[in-house]
Amino acid sequence: KASSAEPPPFPAKGVENVVIIGSGPAGYTAAIYAARANLKPVVFEGYQMGGVPGGQLMTTTEVENFPGFPEGITGPDLMDRMRRQAERWGAELFQEDVESVDVKNNPFTVKSSEREVKCHSLIYATGATAKRLRLPREDEFWSRGISACAICDGASPLFKGQVLAVVGGGDTATEEALYLTKYARHVHLLVRKDQLRASKAMQDRVFNNPNITVHFNTETVDVVSNTKGQMSGILTRKVDTGEESVLEAKGLFYGIGHLPNSQLLEGQVELDTAGYVFIKEGSAKTSVEGVFAAGDVQDHEWRQAITAAGSGCIAALSVERYLVSND
Ligand code: FAD
Repeated sequence: KASSAEPPPFPAKGVENVVIIGSGPAGYTAAIYAARANLKPVVFEGYQMGGVPGGQLMTTTEVENFPGFPEGITGPDLMDRMRRQAERWGAELFQEDVESVDVKNNPFTVKSSEREVKCHSLIYATGATAKRLRLPREDEFWSRGISACAICDGASPLFKGQVLAVVGGGDTATEEALYLTKYARHVHLLVRKDQLRASKAMQDRVFNNPNITVHFNTETVDVVSNTKGQMSGILTRKVDTGEESVLEAKGLFYGIGHLPNSQLLEGQVELDTAGYVFIKEGSAKTSVEGVFAAGDVQDHEWRQAITAAGSGCIAALSVERYLVSND
């Protein structure tokens, strides 16, 4: 059992113990722990992904690195299991987007188009969105050649031993390129500017790696396919001359950053310069007492399902302690 403390008594009628916003690994894990602690969590799952809850993993096929699934598991199957586990322990799930949050006064107020809920504590687990290039054939090849996560996909049979490309010039892109050299035959780094924005240390590592070729002044225009419909290359354009050419590559990784979905907390909770919810190190506590954050919305570094789930667990246990101490 995760928690030893007696569950706090139910709040005054009409005020929930905890509302969780988000239905990715962070939100559902928080829901499982909070429900098992008898906090009767209310979860707003959101419906941005085409009406399906479950977060970013709903857009992927195989997840090979989530512990407990030695053969791998599809993203949607994994998320469905987490959802059912949260439901089984009594989490109340609403497939609605939250439209506003007021955490200036406690009890806090959370509003969707369908309802208004008051709560003593809030777990914000709305995730982040990988920035996309919006290439003409991006949707066709998303997860079938185009990816936004080298750690997630680099070792997959689709990419292993192949020539790959990464687009971007900052720390994310250089990190992805270096990571991919473990599996790829060669990695091309496509950089629109005439220099890298990444830290000097990362630049040195890239320039000293014989398995990475950096292409400056190079715009990524589209992906191209072979007669079998598989991705076979990348159409690029030189920014200075306008010259177009096709670079042979079986995969294209976006390293152009992520956008944390923190808009609802803007002006109420401290965010960092990139918009990630700022939390006190080693905790899930935000700058507002009673508001906790978990998953990619507070994590610009690791961005994995397991780290999101872990931080969801920390957030729920923190809520439990917070409610007991405020009892
Ligand atoms: P998310 O999964 O982003 O979920 C956030 C949730 O919040 C969503 O359900 C969204 O609808 C909801 N939400 C947002 N705003 C609102 C609102 N206003 N109201 C209500 N709900 C809202 N990681 C791995 O470990 N292994 C992998 O193999 C892997 N593969 C990946 C493949 C792809 C294509 C992508 C994009 C990511 C992959 N990742 C993988 C990364 C992993 O998916 C994320 O790290 C993880 O999903 C983050 O979980 P989260 O709970 O923080 O947020």
